[in-house]
This record gives sequence, C-alpha cells and structure tokens, in this order.
Amino acid sequence: MTVLSDLEIARAAHTDPIGEVAARAGIGPEHLELYGNDVAKISLDAVTAHEDRPRAKYIVVTAITPTPLGEGKTTTAVGIAQGLERIGRRSMLALRQPSMGPTFGIKGGAAGAGHSQVLPMEKLNLHLTGDFHAITAAHNLLAAMIDNHLHQGNELDIEPHSVSWRRVVDINDRALRNVIVGLGSRIDGVPRETGFDITAASEVGVILSLATSLKDLRARLGRIVIGYNRAKQPVTAEDLHAAGSMTVILRDALKPNLLQTTENTPVLIHTGPFGNIATGNSSVVADQIGITSSDYLLTEAGFGSDMGAERFFNVKCRVSGLHPDAAVMVVTVRALKTHSGRYTVVPGKPLPEGMTLDNPDDVWAGAPNLRRHIEIVRGFGVTPVVALNLFPGDHDDEIDVVRRIAEECGAHFAASTHVVDGGAGAAELARAVVAACQEPTRFRYTYRLEASLADKIEAVATGVYGADGIDIAPAAAKELTHFQQLGYGHFPVVIAKTHLSLSHDAALKGAPTGWRLPVREVRAAVGAGYVYAICGDMRTMPGLGRHPAAERIDIDENGETVGLF
Ligand code: ADP
Ligand code: MG
Repeated sequence: MTVLSDLEIARAAHTDPIGEVAARAGIGPEHLELYGNDVAKISLDAVTAHEDRPRAKYIVVTAITPTPLGEGKTTTAVGIAQGLERIGRRSMLALRQPSMGPTFGIKGGAAGAGHSQVLPMEKLNLHLTGDFHAITAAHNLLAAMIDNHLHQGNELDIEPHSVSWRRVVDINDRALRNVIVGLGSRIDGVPRETGFDITAASEVGVILSLATSLKDLRARLGRIVIGYNRAKQPVTAEDLHAAGSMTVILRDALKPNLLQTTENTPVLIHTGPFGNIATGNSSVVADQIGITSSDYLLTEAGFGSDMGAERFFNVKCRVSGLHPDAAVMVVTVRALKTHSGRYTVVPGKPLPEGMTLDNPDDVWAGAPNLRRHIEIVRGFGVTPVVALNLFPGDHDDEIDVVRRIAEECGAHFAASTHVVDGGAGAAELARAVVAACQEPTRFRYTYRLEASLADKIEAVATGVYGADGIDIAPAAAKELTHFQQLGYGHFPVVIAKTHLSLSHDAALKGAPTGWRLPVREVRAAVGAGYVYAICGDMRTMPGLGRHPAAERIDIDENGETVGLF
C-alpha cells in the first residue's frame, strides 16, 4: 500500500466551483467576491441579509492539553463537518488561517490531514487572499507613523521608551526580536530600541477577528494604545490619525474566505490570532455568517480547552452574542499516554520505546487530564463530546479505556477514522455531536465583567485551570491598578501561559493540583478589548530550527509544490 502525503491527497481531490459550494450554504452570488475558481470572499452584507434564517447549532472544537504529537483538532473538525453531511445534515466549519511563519518552520502546513483537509491546501497555507499581508501592512503603517511622529517634532509628547507598538512580519525570524530603528543620519529618524513579532501576534489581527462590522473595526483600531506621553496618559492610533488608513488597508481582510473540504463541504477561513497572548480563535464575522448558512456550525479554538476554548467562551462569545450548544473534546490515545508522565515525547523524533505497545494502563494514567478538560467545558454549562481521533496502531482495548473514561464522566463519545476514511469515518462522531446538541445548555461565563481585573484572573486560574490561587508580582499589581484608573477595568482577561500544561509550568502533565499561578506582568490590548496577564516566558516571534521545513519545500519538474504536508 502506498501512503499518500497530505499534499498528494489534497491535489488529487476534486473541488467544486466555489460558487456551487456557496449556493449549497445558501450564500448567493451577490455576496461573493471570487478569487479564482476555488476561493471567494463573502461580503458582510450576508450577515444582515440572512438575519431571519434559522440558526445553526453551534459547536466549538477544542482538545485536551496538547502534546508535541498534535492531537488533530483541525482535521477532526473537518471530519465532523464531512460526517454531518454524510448523515444528512448541512454543516459549516470556521477555522483560523494558518500563519505562514510556522509553515516554513516545523509545522509544514495546517489544513487538516489525510482525507479530512481543507482545499486548496497550498493557497490556504500560503497567501490565500492576502489577509495576513494586510494585517502586516496595517500594523506596520501605525509603527511607521509613530516613528515619523517622533521624527517630525513629537507634538503628542510621546515618551519614546514607553512605545510598546512593535513591528510584525509573517516569517519566523529570531534575528528581528530586538532591533534598533532610526540609525543613520538626522534625516533617518529617531533611534530607539524596538522589535518584531510574528503577524499572528499582532493586535491588529485580534481586532480583525473580534470586529463585528467595518465601523466597529475602525473604532477598535482607533482605540489601540501605542504607548504613553510624558504625562503618562495613553497615546492611541486615533491620536496619531492612523486608524482611518489602517481600516482602508483592512477592508477586504474583514471579509471571511470561503473554501471547501476534501468532500466539498463549506469552510470559512478567517483570521489567525496567536493562541498564547491573543485569543486563538477565528473571527466573529465568520461565525455570524456560518450560523445562518447551515444546520451545524463548527468552530475551532486553539490549543486545549483551558486556552482557546476559555477565551472563546469568555471573550469571543461576549462579543458575538453567540452561545455554543456543544463542545467537542479531541483526544488521542498517544496524547493520554503522554499525560501519564511515563514518556517524554520529542517533536520530530520517533515515539519513545514502549509507547506504541498495547498498554491500557498508560491510558488510564493519563485520564486525569481528559477528566479535567471535560469539567472545564461543563463549567461553562456546555455539553461535552469526547472525540477520539484514531491513529494507525491504536489498540482496541486502549480505545475502550478512552470510551470508559468519557462514559464515567457522562460525556458523549465516539472514535473517528476520518483521516483515513473521510466523512464516512466520522459518521458516528457526527451522530454524537447531533445528540449532544439536543441536550439543554445553561451557558455561563467564568466571571462578570464588573469584577476587578485581579478577581477575573483569579477566577480563570482557580475555576478553569485548577490552581489554588494567584500570586501577582508587585509591578503587575501596580499596573492593574493603573489599568483600572484608565478605565480598562471592565475588560475580559486573557491569560498568557504555556499550552502544554493546565498550569503555567509545561513540565506538569495530567491535571496538576496544589499550585498557584504567578502573574509576572500585565498588558492591555485596548483596541482588541482585553487585558492580558503574562504567566511565563512568552515567545511572540518564533525562530527556525536547525533544519526548517523551508529547506524541503520546492517546486518539482512539473512546477508543482513539494514538501508542504
Ligand atoms: P491541531 O489542529 O490540533 O493542531 P491538526 O489537525 O492540524 O491538529 O493535526 C496535526 C497533525 O497531526 C496533522 O498534520 C497530521 O500530520 C497529524 N494527524 C492528526 N490526526 C491524525 C491521524 N488520525 N492520523 C495520522 N496523523 C494525524
Ligand atoms: Mg488546528
């Protein structure tokens, strides 16, 4: 048997003209802007035009604590969407656009896997319709206007050392983490130290993902705080007269992109905010379009349920006003074995010896992590569905352990072979999702917005992560008081911590207890509308490894791309 690569499967798959895919989702040509045969942007008019249509059931796809092996949230979300069509339901899927940086780093593409992928795979992983480039340009225009303002006499009296607005580029480039701009002669600007982040870490990208209209986008961009003046008052993008131009750069990027799965079901791809310091969720407008164009709308939240899903519930749902009917918890046998703490998995290396042997006890030993994630979802009043993403070589009695853990927790369960079998392999999982959506939900947030910022951080740490409490460093406590005074107290919070543990310490596997969350530093993303707490070392510009995927990506003699997978 020849095993086809994801790229080969993607290339062999049939695509329908995107207008047909849209028509099946009830989106007419008047709302489409075609970008070739297989990609279209959807105009935001579709939201109001379809307002009276019945609402889809709304399902967030999340996972247990990620391991370096990859749990397969994206591919499982694609599989469920395909599986729903197989059992006669109309599905819509909303996913984030992959960042190009990691594509050339270690990831090598992020469009799902095997027979549950998004097409066209190459466009998705590269420029698509240029939204990320637009984010980069809008972000850097503001940076250029800040430095120009300093050069032209600094009328706003900006304190140069307080400028926190950096530049962005969608390439993993560690050499740009810290730079000095303005070197040269007097006409070359004012020298100051700054740096670059990857585009996915841009506040502009988060704003695009949360904006509910062009007007709202304009207002949020205007509220971006770039630093302080010498009187310690915030200086905004509006003060610099930059927000109008930024909005013009982004006006097309605000429209979601319509693509299709390997079984021609519709997929909305839109925005890709980072999962650590940002929200890690696709856009509000994509979900607002999806909710009226299907029976079931699936939306993926990055990392585990403590990260992307927590922000989905506490931040994104507050903005969109949409409340989920169910949460799919993606789990793999190998991830649970990793959470047993008995194996150390190294990315890119073969699995540790013994891990592929039939050993149900290892799976039981990893169960606390899955149980905790099920509790997290329940804490929001949402019905959990455990989706076991099967890998070749998973043993039957190990699969049975996962089923028993799910059942003991009272969660719906199904195993799925979508990567090998496409939608047919996910039919049972799709039925489990349908059943879960029939149960009543009592959706609730972790905290009220009126609570203090510190109380909100503590509510997430104790209520979601399972910490005993939080320890706020003195400087961070001072900054929180400052934020309350500046009127940011009503914002929701995002906690920037490792995704590899429920705690702030990546080494703590399973469901750690008896620990406290240290809050080292706090920052405000005023345009996006949240305060974020930094609890650990946060990388906002990844680097490349010794042999990045970029070394293997090329074109072959027929002009076809190879090495994206
Ligand atoms: P996530 O969204 O959780 O990051 P993805 O769906 O992108 O995960 O999957 C990550 C990678 O894991 C895929 O590119 C694929 O190589 C691999 N993978 C996921 N599920 C399977 C599976 N069932 N069988 C084989 N490989 C898989
Ligand atoms: Mg994913």
